[in-house]
Amino acid sequence: MSGFPSDKALVPFVSVENMLALIHRCGIDRCLIELTDAIAADFARWQMFHKAPRVASHSATGVIELMPISDGVSYSFKFVNGHPSNVKRELQTVTAFGVLASVATGYPKLFSEMTLLTALRTAATSALATRMLARSDSSTAAIIGNGAQSEFQIRALAAVCGITSFRLYDIDKLATQRCVANLSGTALKLKVCGCVEAAIEGADVVTTCTADKSHQTILTDNLVGAGVHVNAIGGDCPGKTELHRDVLLRSDIFVEHAEQTRIEGDIQQLDPDHPVTEIWEVMAGVAPGRIRADQITVFDGVGFAIEDFSALRWLWSAVQDTTVTEQLDLIADPDDPRDLFGMIRRYSERNGSNSPSTASTIN
Ligand code: NAD
Repeated sequence: MSGFPSDKALVPFVSVENMLALIHRCGIDRCLIELTDAIAADFARWQMFHKAPRVASHSATGVIELMPISDGVSYSFKFVNGHPSNVKRELQTVTAFGVLASVATGYPKLFSEMTLLTALRTAATSALATRMLARSDSSTAAIIGNGAQSEFQIRALAAVCGITSFRLYDIDKLATQRCVANLSGTALKLKVCGCVEAAIEGADVVTTCTADKSHQTILTDNLVGAGVHVNAIGGDCPGKTELHRDVLLRSDIFVEHAEQTRIEGDIQQLDPDHPVTEIWEVMAGVAPGRIRADQITVFDGVGFAIEDFSALRWLWSAVQDTTVTEQLDLIADPDDPRDLFGMIRRYSERNGSNSPSTASTIN
């Protein structure tokens, strides 16, 4: 036994560098496919989760959110921001980190960067919705908004749904150029388009992932033809939408958690009782997905805590027996659990001055 109690319960931590190492080692396609399946499996056991809409703190420039969820065995939360104007300050619109914890002890099991993990899980969720709702012969997708999420969205649609042809549009040409450069060397067919109309021409699937804290009309009613599946993922907080209301009125709408999406999604523009289907209902076979080839389906994705839970549990298994974690001294955990103060005394004894016994009296 060592001379001093360890006083430590080390928590595995996945840094940005180590997340990159993990993605490199697994391969991004495998990560996206495994994440899609993990998210699908958790949505399929929807009733087992204790769910709540996320806790959002809004400001004039953006939002900071906490996203907690538990299945009674594990608990997770993510801290995430959404600041569309950050790009002007050379900062990202979305950054995140999160924790997976044991419900039995309350101790954290994993602490991780989640900016990259959020991009992966958001792309996996769009791919899951597309696999479930798009026409099975879909081969071409339009990606409107070619910012940080876009390459992930494209890679997931390719890896999970077999879509090989992509039509890209962004108001910022440099964003589209960067997206094309990042995907060079893949077998994907990429077409740069000069406007939304050109981008969605012939597209079976349309993904909107723009960022602007306002009611935008990225897709007007006349642009969305019969049989198209739309993933609208950029409208994800109050006052921030992408689709014209009339597009929604002509579509069958699918959401993650209706209570949250009615506040944050494109459907905030509709009456509070407008019918929508939660995607778990389709997976459980209690509600239909696509029933006609000419139907317009919209996945109004805002990001729900279950996807982060799935992603953190996937990460937890992926990092076992690897070197891609650091051990964080995060939890004060004395060998005698009731001797928390003793940690201070032992530290002072080891390090000399200012021990509690020699501290001067405070008058
Ligand atoms: P980003 O700022 O990196 O990229 C957004 C892109 O949209 C920019 O390139 C911008 O030029 C473009 N854009 C803005 N207005 C446009 C318009 N009218 N037409 C075409 N392009 C336009 O942001 P990001 O990290 O890629 O995120 C994109 C959006 O997705 C954000 O709104 C973000 O909040 C949201 N998001 C949602 C989820 C989710 O789970 N649903 C997860 C992550 C991000």
